[in-house]
Amino acid sequence: MCGVFGIHGHDEAANIAYLGIHALQHRGQESAGLVACDGRMRRVAAMGLVSDTFNRDSLATLPGTTSVGHVRYSTAGSSELRNAQPLMFEYTGGSIAIAHNGNLVNALELRTELEREGSLFQTSSDTEVIVHLMAKASNPELLGRLQEGLTRVSGAYSLILCTADGTMIGARDPYGFRPLVLGRLKDSYVLSSETASFDLIEAEYIREIEPGEIVVIQNGGMTSHRHEQWAASLPASRFCVFEHVYFARPDSMLNGLSVYRARERMGRRLAQENPVDADVVIAVPDSGVPAAIGYANEAKIPFEMGLIRSHYVGRTFIEPQDSIRHFGVRLKLSPVRSVVDGKRVIVVDDSLVRGTTSRKIVKMLRAAGAREVHLRISAPPTTHPCFYGIDTPTRSELVAASHTIEEIARYVTCDTLGYLSHSGLLNAVKADQDKSYCSACFTGEYPLPLGVGAADRGGLVKLRLAKV
Ligand code: 5GP
Ligand code: MG
Repeated sequence: MCGVFGIHGHDEAANIAYLGIHALQHRGQESAGLVACDGRMRRVAAMGLVSDTFNRDSLATLPGTTSVGHVRYSTAGSSELRNAQPLMFEYTGGSIAIAHNGNLVNALELRTELEREGSLFQTSSDTEVIVHLMAKASNPELLGRLQEGLTRVSGAYSLILCTADGTMIGARDPYGFRPLVLGRLKDSYVLSSETASFDLIEAEYIREIEPGEIVVIQNGGMTSHRHEQWAASLPASRFCVFEHVYFARPDSMLNGLSVYRARERMGRRLAQENPVDADVVIAVPDSGVPAAIGYANEAKIPFEMGLIRSHYVGRTFIEPQDSIRHFGVRLKLSPVRSVVDGKRVIVVDDSLVRGTTSRKIVKMLRAAGAREVHLRISAPPTTHPCFYGIDTPTRSELVAASHTIEEIARYVTCDTLGYLSHSGLLNAVKADQDKSYCSACFTGEYPLPLGVGAADRGGLVKLRLAKV
């Protein structure tokens, strides 16, 4: 998963874009990058967090009134510097930079075809095929090139592009899998994955970029366009429901809903569907907190902070070796004995993926004196991998793909386990005719056919313990 941000028409564009991607840090911690344009295009990108990548000096090397930024959590393409975005290229049309959130499902086929025709790729990222398609397009105009290129790609993309002259483009795939919002900061236009970054820079939220829409922001003005092949009719939108469950910040507005309130409703529904007698409701912080509050309010059981999260766990301890992973959870989360000792505890988490985290949490709570541990998950069982941009593991690693709820409960060693139903989830995110979602990770119903090699890419992606 990734976060994208762009600003057009601001004297301190790179500084603002720095703040913009800082507010999107939760969407990706592997690499961070910014480009800025003042007739020339310059770029700074590095592996690591936004605050480690940039300082006053490096931001000073990014003059210009347009700036585009990216934070990356790799799905397609490996975790290495050459894949850090925004990617920047030179072609006959000039310099172009691109920042992408999502995952293309036919990137491998397109890449093979382009390479056969002589294209030399600089990265292993799926995003690069878009730029090669633009470079080869017959249409000489920037917008035309993008429209032509996008008719070939299939999958999830929320894109921000810019050119050396400061033109900025935002584009969203016709299904609208990933978010992309438009805002205004005085005379400047801003684009971002999430509205939380607008709050930080005090920009005004205008609206979402619509599925299948392309906006061109140039010389202070904006025009809206459609994807060529979807001009006549768009497919039903398929916003990612997992953004609401886990991924987005709770202070963001997504698909017309407060993420916080949606999570709270998930918790309320969860309490209705899976009640149990208990003394205290606790959350697995941070992502499980709003749902746990919803659960506690609905069940009329006190909510307390029974697990404390350390915010100082650096990347050193999230290496995938088992020995370190073992400490990973304890380093990040610790139980509050005075909250759980002797108590019947309901612990609410947003999702259960491999079950390894939950298992450790249950053991930790028992070691801290919990008399009973009832695990409640504010989403349905995760049974299928995501091919549209979320970094879920392969099917074989998804515990709910091959085990019943009773088997999972036995594995994580909890007294009872309850999930939110799929209909309960859809109800919490107010799904209806106008607001439809992709919930393939819970149902296996993929709205877009997967390209050749999608299964392999599924094999490449791994869930890291970066977030719990
Ligand atoms: P499990 O041990 O079941 O694999 O992990 C469950 C935990 O992983 C939950 O607390 C959930 O918040 C978190 N989680 C869910 N999806 C993702 C993801 O895509 N990346 C990371 N790093 N954590 C996730
Ligand atoms: Mg979590």
